[in-house]
Amino acid sequence: MRLSFHGAAQGVTGSCHLLECAGLRILIDCGLFQGRRHADEDNSDDFGFKPSEIDFLLLTHAHLDHCGRIPLLVKRGFKGEIITTAATRELAKLIMMDSAHIQEEDTAHASRRLRRQGRAGIEPLYDVSDALRALDYFGRNVSYDEALALNEQVSACFINAGHILGSASIVIEASENGQNRRIVFSGDLGNYGHAVLSDPAPPPDADYVVMETTYGDRLHRSLEASVAELIDAIKQTQAGGGNIIIPTFALERTQEILFHLKDAIKRGELSSSLPVFLDSPMAISATEIFRRHAEGFRPELCNEMRAGRDPFNVPGLRFTRQVAESIAIDNISSGAIIMAGSGMCTGGRIRYHLKHNIWRSECSVVFVGFAAEGTLARKIIDGAKVIRLYGEDVRVKARIHTINGFSAHADQRELLDWLGHTGKPKTTFLVHGDKNKGMQTMLGELKKRDIAAYSPALHETVDLFA
Ligand SMILES: [Zn+2]
Repeated sequence: MRLSFHGAAQGVTGSCHLLECAGLRILIDCGLFQGRRHADEDNSDDFGFKPSEIDFLLLTHAHLDHCGRIPLLVKRGFKGEIITTAATRELAKLIMMDSAHIQEEDTAHASRRLRRQGRAGIEPLYDVSDALRALDYFGRNVSYDEALALNEQVSACFINAGHILGSASIVIEASENGQNRRIVFSGDLGNYGHAVLSDPAPPPDADYVVMETTYGDRLHRSLEASVAELIDAIKQTQAGGGNIIIPTFALERTQEILFHLKDAIKRGELSSSLPVFLDSPMAISATEIFRRHAEGFRPELCNEMRAGRDPFNVPGLRFTRQVAESIAIDNISSGAIIMAGSGMCTGGRIRYHLKHNIWRSECSVVFVGFAAEGTLARKIIDGAKVIRLYGEDVRVKARIHTINGFSAHADQRELLDWLGHTGKPKTTFLVHGDKNKGMQTMLGELKKRDIAAYSPALHETVDLFA
């Protein structure tokens, strides 16, 4: 029985782990490497195994860094079955199709430039037809807590990870030559007390654990304080006669913000006539998928939804899919909340709304998520006085709010609590974290508690019977 790490090893993105047991080759996630210096090379490199030899791909959730290389896996010969929850299946389709469009556009752009220089063009990592073909390999949908036999000796059980809709940790039980092993893959773990999603389910005792460490070095601010900060920013801006611009992440954060807006209206803190624009076709599609999958919500919210009370249905909410509708929003000079992607302002419609509003001192830009180094969002958060948009220098005069308490990831204390349920694993493999930050700190914390832990290198293999 062997476990090897082909992504998110001593790094955050590209999650991909291979478990070989009882005659099966089981892949857990197949994500895209993102944001790092050699991400393109990493993505097009060999997987570290033969895709045609994989029997099952178990997908923990639909974030791009967990599902983004599935179309490439299929393109390179995968013929197995992809198993995941019903919500993840729908969200993964949305994410993979979007990624394929971006791959096609980016390479077409780069190829034109290369050809102008008399050089050969480049091929996308995968295209829309590859992503569509990947959908054919999605087989059984699983429900939480339901053990699924992969063969006579191996079973898999998905338990709720509370991270995004449909997200799961995966528990694999395998027996080989009369010896049994239980291995728990955390996937990405959510934070407790999320407004919409259930808390992560406690994992069972395990022989081995593979755990994410994204925020292994941090404790989150309280959610209540963050919600209060968001509502205050909206009220102040409305009173001053400006618009509120919120760069959004299509999956999860958008729906969470809609929930808090509706809740504030219900409590009488915000007016029910507040115009809210969700100007992101992908976020609109994701919101529709949320509405179809209340099974991942906290129980009281799930009951509300099933009784016909939609928690995302803000009274003044308008969905704008068409470009013309999006452009028309900028005729509104005050009182509107405009949510658009991308969350880090690296592309998408948000840049257009920033151009029209960020130079006005009566407006606000409210950041509700992570902003990586080098992105436009990071520059604005760090206090840039002028930003470049559509070839123009635009002054930053709007009030900038950075609200840090909304998070889809467990913090250090929550990770330790979660791991505490697994008893005393022989080894906890730490993955999906910054090598020098979250992962390093978590290694130290586990050492203090006398818990055996280890951060495997990329493509490293370990023997689980050793
Ligand atoms: Zn994730």
